[in-house]
Amino acid sequence: IIEVTNLKKSFGNLEVLKNVSFEVQQSEVVAVIGPSGSGKSTMLRSLVHLEEVNGGSIKIDNDYIVKEGHYSSVQQIKGITARMGMVFQHFNLFPHLTVQDNLELAPKLVKGQPAAALRSKSSALLEKVGLSDKREVYPHHLSGGQKQRVAIARALMMDPEILLFDEPTSALDPELTGEVLEVMKRLAEEQMTMVIVTHEMGFAREVADRVVFMADGQFIESGTPEQLFGHPKHERTKAFLNRIL
Ligand code: ATP
Ligand code: MG
Repeated sequence: IIEVTNLKKSFGNLEVLKNVSFEVQQSEVVAVIGPSGSGKSTMLRSLVHLEEVNGGSIKIDNDYIVKEGHYSSVQQIKGITARMGMVFQHFNLFPHLTVQDNLELAPKLVKGQPAAALRSKSSALLEKVGLSDKREVYPHHLSGGQKQRVAIARALMMDPEILLFDEPTSALDPELTGEVLEVMKRLAEEQMTMVIVTHEMGFAREVADRVVFMADGQFIESGTPEQLFGHPKHERTKAFLNRIL
C-alpha cells in the first residue's frame, strides 16, 4: 500500500535521507526505530507531503505523490495524502475548539458532510477511544494521554487507509502511555495499516508485524520483532539495541 524508493532529502548540505526504500503492505503494522536525528520524522513527514524530497519515489496504492523526484500536481497530491492520517508527538489540537469540534473541523471543511452525520461519527469515535464524557471539554483540561487519544480519534474522522504516528507517547508521563498504546493496539487488531515511529520497544515487539531500524538517513535492516530484537544482523543495530535495552 506504501512503496518508497530511493528517497533523498537534504536540508541545505545536510543529507537527512539517503536512498531510503521500503514497502508497507495493507494491514501491516511497521515500527520504525533508530537514534535521534536519523531521519525518522523527516521520512514520515515526506509521506504526507509536509516535506518535499529531493529525489526518489513515493507511491500510495497505485498513485505517485512523487516519481523519481518529480511531484504530481497539487490536486493529485491532496487526493493521495488525504488517505493518510498523521498523529504527532505534541497532539497539535486546536486549543480554542472543544474536543468534539476538534474532530469535526477538518471533515467539515474538506468533505462538507452534514452536521448531524459528523456529530454521530465523532461521538462514536470518542467512545471508541474512551472519551465520551469529554466531548464538550477544551484541550487544556485534558491529560496528555487524553489529548493524544483525541488526536487519534481526529485522524480517524477522515477514514484514513493508513495511519502514521510520530512518537505518539514520548511527550507523555509514563503512566499515561498505556492508554494510548491500548488504542493503537486495538486499531492494529482491526487491520489498520500503521507506520509507527516509536521508542517504546516493548510495544513494537508486541504489536508490530515488522520493525525497521533506521540510522544516519538509511534503513539499515528490518525484520519481525523476534528477528530484529533477538538476532540483529548489523553492527549498528546491535550497538543501538545494546544502548537502549
Ligand atoms: P528524533 O528521534 O530526535 O525525533 P528523527 O530521527 O526524527 O530524530 P529528524 O527529525 O528526521 O530525525 O531529523 C533528521 C535531521 O534533519 C536532524 O539532523 C535534524 O536536525 C535535521 N532537520 C530536521 N528538520 C529540519 C529542518 N526543517 N531544517 C533543517 N534541518 C532539519
Ligand atoms: Mg523525530
